[in-house]
Amino acid sequence: MEKVVIIRYSEIHLKGKNRGYFERVFSQNIEKSLKGVKHETHRLSGRYLIEGFDEWETEVILDKLKRVFGIHSYSVALKTASDMQHIFAAAKEVCSISGSFKVVSHRADKSFPLNSMQISAEIGGRLLSENKNISVDVHNPQFTINIDVRENGTTLVFNEFFKGAGGMPVGTSGKGLLLISGGIDSPVAGHMIAKRGMSLECIHYHSYPYTNLQARDKVIELAGVLAKYTCGIKLHIVSVTHIQEEIHKKCNGEYMVTILRRFMMRIAEKIAARCGAQCLITGESLGQVASQTIEGMTSSNSVIDNLPVLRPLCGFDKDEIIERSRNIGAYEISIQPFEDCCTVFLPKHPVIKPSLKTVIEEEEKLDVQALLNEALSSVETVVL
Ligand code: ATP
Ligand code: MG
Repeated sequence: MEKVVIIRYSEIHLKGKNRGYFERVFSQNIEKSLKGVKHETHRLSGRYLIEGFDEWETEVILDKLKRVFGIHSYSVALKTASDMQHIFAAAKEVCSISGSFKVVSHRADKSFPLNSMQISAEIGGRLLSENKNISVDVHNPQFTINIDVRENGTTLVFNEFFKGAGGMPVGTSGKGLLLISGGIDSPVAGHMIAKRGMSLECIHYHSYPYTNLQARDKVIELAGVLAKYTCGIKLHIVSVTHIQEEIHKKCNGEYMVTILRRFMMRIAEKIAARCGAQCLITGESLGQVASQTIEGMTSSNSVIDNLPVLRPLCGFDKDEIIERSRNIGAYEISIQPFEDCCTVFLPKHPVIKPSLKTVIEEEEKLDVQALLNEALSSVETVVL
């Protein structure tokens, strides 16, 4: 009898002709996430089996699999030979010492001498006769014993179906460039889009020496959190200090954030072209702060020539975003109090509903191309 992990996929099976491709990416992602852990992976119909690992590493494996998109559910099971004696021994192993239970059987191997109802009745009956402290309750049991008789002469016996990360395998929906700030929102936005199967690269803007190096480390750490879901990530770090100084010197201070946002979008579009990203992703939520009004979004959007800008958090309240941030393991990092570049030279009253005409007039005071070129010549890339 051997401990194994059963992995069931989610939406992948819906993909008709593309199914082979989706399954290939999915299994590659499983392998990437389990890199460095001794194991073998085998495919069964509609599921994968992780075997051959050291039992003490079970939790490590489960922790990694929790972050693989495309997994619908998983179970820790005992794998045994398909005969009633072995199946009973495995059922005994997973049976609690007391409480109500039911046995649910599934028979993929139609040559097995008992049908699924008979397997459940036989195993349930034997368990009952050996342990006076358990009872059967088919409607509301305290625990369930699942028995899955496979085609290949082996049977899987397990208790629980744990919920997987859901979504689509990362890499099956193209690539996006996430503007990541160090706040709560952008990592959540990246996570949501990665869940739909998009692989990510990240771009972060800093204003060193106005912002400190801890702010930078924080963003590296946040990108590292996302990397666990996306099988690795590249983070491009770009200085916008010179741009902010120039805006501060030449433009109406109320437009600092609005104009800076337009530079962020322009730089991101150029980096996206370099790395083959097909869209930009931001953590903006409608109306959450002054710069995230529809007028603010219109202003920053209008500098983008070709790419769609995905804003998955647009319809979310802050508390919904915080809950997601906690769930993905980013919150404690995000709330560390280091300054973001947007707070440098921040005016007392930033313009809330910028008119595009005025923004463009203000921007005409700058040599946009020269400022962009300088930013693009200083990109540093960290691979996580
Ligand atoms: P976040 O929590 O992600 O910082 P926020 O609610 O603080 O979001 P803003 O600071 O207005 O909102 O930023 C809106 C979005 O613009 C961010 O979610 C992010 O996508 C992008 N952004 C802001 N600052 C930066 C930065 N320094 N580097 C990269 N992207 C940024
Ligand atoms: Mg922010």
